Amino acid sequence: MKAIEIIRFLEQWAPPALQEGYDNSGLIVGDANTEVTGVLVSLDCTEDVVDDAISRGCNMIVSHHPIVFSGLKKLNGKNYVERTVIKAIRHDILLYAIHTNLDHVTDGVNGRIVERLGLINTSILAPKKGLLHKVVVFVPNAHAQAVRDAMFDAGAGHIGNYDRCSFNLLGEGSFRGNEESNAFVGKKGQVHSEAETRIEVIVPAYLSGRVIAAMRTAHPYEEVAHDLYALENEHRMIGAGLIGDLPEEMDAMEFLLSLKTSMKTTCVRHTLPHRHKVKRVAVCGGSGSFLLDRAKAKGADVLVTADFKYHQFFDADNELIIADVGHFESEQFTVELLAERLTDNFPTFATHLTRVRTNPVHYL
Ligand SMILES: [Zn+2]
Repeated sequence: MKAIEIIRFLEQWAPPALQEGYDNSGLIVGDANTEVTGVLVSLDCTEDVVDDAISRGCNMIVSHHPIVFSGLKKLNGKNYVERTVIKAIRHDILLYAIHTNLDHVTDGVNGRIVERLGLINTSILAPKKGLLHKVVVFVPNAHAQAVRDAMFDAGAGHIGNYDRCSFNLLGEGSFRGNEESNAFVGKKGQVHSEAETRIEVIVPAYLSGRVIAAMRTAHPYEEVAHDLYALENEHRMIGAGLIGDLPEEMDAMEFLLSLKTSMKTTCVRHTLPHRHKVKRVAVCGGSGSFLLDRAKAKGADVLVTADFKYHQFFDADNELIIADVGHFESEQFTVELLAERLTDNFPTFATHLTRVRTNPVHYL
């Protein structure tokens, strides 16, 4: 199997367009047309992980964190990033990262944490803006269904739990073709009126090019009148963190203690409970302190995440409980998730979990 097939599957799940501006998800090293002998999944990509891949006959590493974030200016092996990249290139190993794009989908990093904690009624904690477009197109009535279907099939018309959503308004279009025209209806040089449907569909911005191309192919007119709008609306299914409820209220200290088991961590750094019971829980794998205000605004009793600094703990301010379970610990289940998804989708193909524990943080 070629790497591109694995990449296509991963990118359908967590499109690279959903990553943060500072991120570097995607294929970092190697040629997507390479025949893959096996995939090794890992949270981080380090020299030890590359060695693990070599020893297990895997020539592709899929990691959550990208080994290269900002550009490499030199490649002389002076630091671990350069040495890892050099080793991968020397051994023809592809390096692929699926980072903040996997943080931003509901069934990614945070979906797995929510499962571990048994939360219900979950939704995105901080839905993203600027990810939605609206496509409006004017179609002769008899072709409206075909054009709608083409746009739906290309990814338009999803709103929450609904798909194939559109708005349709009947009206009349007019046009006059010149001598060069090759009109579908009407005569050259004469104004023609046609009963048309104005179709409106919503589409993720990263798919609008594909949707417009599909719409043009299905549309009978030589010149297609259409509008493309950028929307300010939030995308409710895409964004940082998740929030949900425990099935039953829990004693706050009991909940904090339970995180040691559910999140497989030896250390939970937390603020003191401001109330005895907790029910509404916000989660974010990795560095999630930026979500504190959002978690408060959405009524979370506790925010389970990582990488809080000393002064940031004060910001809990008796409005919620901060529970910092460790960066690696909060994201460790992502590796299993990646392996499971790859194995489910490519059952005859070898996907391995790395044996290297990459966490650079140790507790005595
Ligand atoms: Zn992380």
